[in-house]
Amino acid sequence: MKIRVAKSAGFCWGVKRAVNIAIEAVKRSKGKAYCLGELIHNRREIERLKKLGMEFVEDVESLEAGSTVIIRSHGVAPQVFSCLKERGLEVVDATCPFVKEVQDKAVKLEEEGYPVLILGNPKHPEVEGIAGHVKNPIIVSSLEELRELPQFLKLGVVCQTTLSSGFFREAVSLLALKAKELKVYNTICKATAIRQKEAKELASQVDVMLIVGGKNSSNTTKLYQISKSVNERSYHIESKEEIELSWFEGAEVVGITAGASTPQWVIEEVVAYLRFLAKGGSNSGRGVCQAVGG
Ligand code: SF4
Repeated sequence: MKIRVAKSAGFCWGVKRAVNIAIEAVKRSKGKAYCLGELIHNRREIERLKKLGMEFVEDVESLEAGSTVIIRSHGVAPQVFSCLKERGLEVVDATCPFVKEVQDKAVKLEEEGYPVLILGNPKHPEVEGIAGHVKNPIIVSSLEELRELPQFLKLGVVCQTTLSSGFFREAVSLLALKAKELKVYNTICKATAIRQKEAKELASQVDVMLIVGGKNSSNTTKLYQISKSVNERSYHIESKEEIELSWFEGAEVVGITAGASTPQWVIEEVVAYLRFLAKGGSNSGRGVCQAVGG
C-alpha cells in the first residue's frame, strides 16, 4: 500500500506563528498565562500546550490583573482588547496577520459607506472577531440565506479566511444580482486555497483519503467535504486510533492531508501507523485484526 501525503498538509504559517508566540508567552510570563479560547482547533495539541503550562479560558471575568492573556490566530473584536487592558491583563496578540487584513478591509468598506457582508460561519471566532470591527455586519453562511437578502444600493463583502472557494464563487455571483454596486475582497487565505486544491487533486488520484485534524476545526472539515465530494472513501480522523482496517480493503494508494491546525507530529503518527499496517501489522487492540497488503 502506497502512502501519499499532501505537500502542504498540517500547520499553516499563521497557526505555527501563533503556537510559537503562545509558547514564548508562557515561558516569559511571571504570573499565569491564559489563552482566550482554544489556541487552535486541535484537541491533542491543546493537551500538549496544557502540559507546558498554558491555561485556556472562555471569559476573562475571573482572571487576576497582571496575568498574561494570549489572543489566538483567529483574532478578536476591538472591544475584547479594551476589556482585557482595562482589567490590567498583559495582552499577547497572536492574531494571524492575514486575519488582521480581513478586519482592516471590513473597516475600510464601512468607512467607504458600504454595508459590510461577511461570508462565513457566524459562530466561528474569526468571523465574530471580524464582525466586531464593524457596526452592523451582515453575516451569511449559506446560499439560501443569500437568496433571502433584500436588494442593496451598495454592498461590501469580505469572507472567512477558511471559506471554500466553491462557495465563495457561487455566493459572489448571487450577490452580483443583489447590489447595484458590489465591492468584494476575496479574503480566503492562500494557505486554505492551496490545501483545498491539493486535497481535491490528491483525493481524485488515490483509493482512500484520510483527512487528519480536529472535528471542531472548520478548515479540516472543509478539506474533508471537498475530498468526500470527489472520493467517497474519505475519512476525517483526529488520530490514528480512529483508523479502521476495513477502510483499506483493496486499496493500493492512500492519500493523507491535514487541516491548517493539525500539528506535524499528529500527521507523522498517522503515517507511521499506516506504514505499520501496510507491513502486515494489525490494530487488534481495537478488535480488528486484518493485515493490509504492502
Ligand atoms: S489559514 Fe491563513 S489566515 Fe488562517 S491562520 Fe493560517 S495563515 Fe492565517
